[in-house]
Amino acid sequence: MSCSISRLQEALARFDVNRVRGEFPVLSRRMGKHPLTFLDSGASAQKPLAVIERINRYYSEEHANIHRGVYRLSEQATLAYEHARERIARFLNAPETREVIFTRGATESVNLVAATWGRANLRAGDEILLTGMEHHANIVPWQMVAEQTGAVIRVVPVTPAGELDLDAFRSLLSPRTKFFGCVHVSNALGTINPVETLVREAKAVGATVLIDGAQAVAHFVPDVQAIGCDFYVFSGHKLFGPTGIGVLWGRADLLNAMPPYQGGGDMIKKVDFDGTTYREIPERFEAGTPHISGAIGLGVAADYFAALQPAAHAYEDALLEYAVEKLTAIPGLRLVGTAQRKVAVCSFLLGDIHPHDVGTMLDADGIAVRTGHHCAMPLMKTLGIPGTVRASMAFYNTTEDIDRLAVSLERIRKMF
Ligand code: PLP
Repeated sequence: MSCSISRLQEALARFDVNRVRGEFPVLSRRMGKHPLTFLDSGASAQKPLAVIERINRYYSEEHANIHRGVYRLSEQATLAYEHARERIARFLNAPETREVIFTRGATESVNLVAATWGRANLRAGDEILLTGMEHHANIVPWQMVAEQTGAVIRVVPVTPAGELDLDAFRSLLSPRTKFFGCVHVSNALGTINPVETLVREAKAVGATVLIDGAQAVAHFVPDVQAIGCDFYVFSGHKLFGPTGIGVLWGRADLLNAMPPYQGGGDMIKKVDFDGTTYREIPERFEAGTPHISGAIGLGVAADYFAALQPAAHAYEDALLEYAVEKLTAIPGLRLVGTAQRKVAVCSFLLGDIHPHDVGTMLDADGIAVRTGHHCAMPLMKTLGIPGTVRASMAFYNTTEDIDRLAVSLERIRKMF
């Protein structure tokens, strides 16, 4: 028996993947004559019944606008929304619940920090340190701030295996480094970065640090206190929750010292044409009617995911090992990203067939993968490739999914 099979059997003894799959209605869909093989959770994860039903109940029985209502329905909706904030604070091990700001997603969270903290704190000649494996969401907002402030962007290089070059990171750190932004888990390659070490060293030179947890939260529960960062961002839809909702966690002192991002209702203490005063966090950064059902659904998703750990993560690790064995046995297939520490993501190229062609042909067999640059164009440039095919797994994927992928890839390979 291969090593990956025995590891899988051990993991399956603690994690009932078939029971869990039954909680995700979309996974029983068919795509034409094929069962759906969903290997694109990195782009957006599927939703369990617990989340779907909670949102349904909210709209069927509990909806009203929050915070300002004096009637019971509004008070109940407010309680549910604020309870979701408590759940997210617990999920992240945040020191304080008010440090959880609901946003539209990781992208908006980074933009919020760049536009407020960035504009207020960066000056000409200051350095913004990013890594060569950032998603565009953690690059472009900083380029915009650099243009506005005269700050300069520096980049930590990535090795051919898809890991950060730690020596280069250290040599780039200096008292000029005012900000360090780093992805916790690379969306394109699955690399898990050693964020505790990176944060400690960046903070030692006085940098403020943001960790982009968009991909991490789908695979393990992050602990912002252990990581030691100043900001942590993620999107609800990658954590098996709704779209259009996300989180910015930040240290209370930093957040309260930042100017507001958007103005409007709920974020003010007093409005007068002579001048307006703002509330403290979290309301300071939640102008207007928020995505109430989204936050409530996300709270449920975070609890659902956390309750499956650590068995789900151990299962995913074993599944990754199985997938790597299966895929690397296909002649001409090259894995891109072979870091020591990885989540269950296989990015690859099949001979010289264009990734989009591979993706389209996999779809004909009911297999959903992502193809292209994965919003990480600088990383693709470093690796010297236009893009990859990315199979990103979640705890609801099975060895059958991987087997179907491998059979389909063999079929495609033989067509060329
Ligand atoms: N950061 C990373 C690492 C991502 O993978 C993504 C999305 O794929 C984002 C940020 C942006 O997330 P969203 O589009 O949900 O705002």
